[in-house]
Amino acid sequence: MKMPRFFSSTACDMAIDLGTVNTVIHARDRGIVLNEPSVIAIETIRGIRKVKVVGNEAKLMMGKTPANIQAIRPLRDGVIADIDVAEQMIKHFVEKAQDGGRFGRRYDVVICVPTGSTMVERRALRDAASNAGAARVQLIEEPMAAAIGAGLPVTEPRGAMVVDIGGGTTEVAVLSLNGIAYSNSARVGGDKLDDAIASHIRRVHNLMIGEATAERVKCAIGCATPPDGEGERIIVKGRDLVNGRPAEMTISEAEICDALSEPVGQIVMAVMTALEQTAPELSSDIIDEGITLTGGGALLRRLDEALSEATGLPVRIADTPLMCVAMGAGKALEDRAYEGVLTMS
Ligand code: ADP
Ligand code: MG
Repeated sequence: MKMPRFFSSTACDMAIDLGTVNTVIHARDRGIVLNEPSVIAIETIRGIRKVKVVGNEAKLMMGKTPANIQAIRPLRDGVIADIDVAEQMIKHFVEKAQDGGRFGRRYDVVICVPTGSTMVERRALRDAASNAGAARVQLIEEPMAAAIGAGLPVTEPRGAMVVDIGGGTTEVAVLSLNGIAYSNSARVGGDKLDDAIASHIRRVHNLMIGEATAERVKCAIGCATPPDGEGERIIVKGRDLVNGRPAEMTISEAEICDALSEPVGQIVMAVMTALEQTAPELSSDIIDEGITLTGGGALLRRLDEALSEATGLPVRIADTPLMCVAMGAGKALEDRAYEGVLTMS
C-alpha cells in the first residue's frame, strides 16, 4: 500500500558534492541517491526565464538547443558563475534526491566546497541549500571528503596525499589529524583534456567536433602515456571545416595521447609542486602511503602510471573515484570520529 505523502519520512540527511561536471548526493542510510551532470536547461518564454530540465536530460541538450533554451553548466570553471541558476539546480537535485519526501522530518545537509572557494561562494551554497529546505547546512573541504571517501587515515597523525581530478580543477592536498596540512588547486581537469582533443582534431584534421564528442573520445581512448604502437582506434564525427559538410574519421590512441600531453603535464606538475612544498615529516608518511587519486580524471588511462613515474611514489586509484567526495562527506556526517572536519563557514 502506498503511504500518503505527508506520512512518508524519506527526507533524510544528505551530503552534496556539487561538482563542475557531476552532482552526487549521498543520503543517510541510503547511500548514493543521485548522480547526474551539473547541467541545467533554462527556457525563456516571453522574457520570463524558467527551469526546463536539470541533470541527465539537460546534458543531452547541450550544443543542440534552439535560441530560446540555454543548457548551462553553472559551475563550469570551478567558481559559481551564475548563483541564481546554481541555486535552482541545487533545489531541483535536492528535491529529486528526497524523492518527494520533504514533508517528513527536518534534515541536515553537508555541502562539499573547494578549498580555494571564497566566503561569498560558501555563503551562496549554504543559502541555496537552506532555500531548498535544509534545516542545518554544514560545509566540508572537498579534499577532506575525497580522502575520507577513499578510506585514507585522515584522523590519525599520518600524512596522506589525495589528488582529486575533476572537470575544472585538480586539487592536491595533504591531510593529517582531521585537517588539511597543505593544499593547492590547479585550473586543469577533464574539461581541459576535452578542449585539447577538440583543438587537436580541428588543427590537424580540419574537423570541428563538439564538447560531448571530445569527452566521449577521451573516455574511450584518452591516455596519459603512449600505448604500444597505435593502440586502439575509434571513429569521430563532426563538421569538415573545408567543405562545411558532416564528416567522420578514425583516430588512434597514440594520437590522442599526444594531444593530451600538455594538460596531463600540468596535472603532473601540480602534484610535483605539492610534494615540494610538503613538510618533511609528512613527506616521509607519503612515501609509505603513496598518492590516492579521486575524481573522474583519475580514470584517464595510465594517469596513475604517469604520476608514479614522475614522483617515484606508489599511486592508487580510489575504488569509486566519481563518488568518493559524496561518500566521504556522507561518512563525515554520520560518524562522530569525523566531527571536526565539518564547519559552518
Ligand atoms: P567534478 O567533481 O568537477 O564534477 P568529476 O569528479 O565528476 O568532476 O569528474 C568528471 C570528469 O571526469 C569529466 O571531465 C569526465 O569527462 C571525466 N571522466 C569520467 N570518466 C572518465 C574516463 N573513463 N576517462 C577519463 N576521464 C573521465
Ligand atoms: Mg569533484
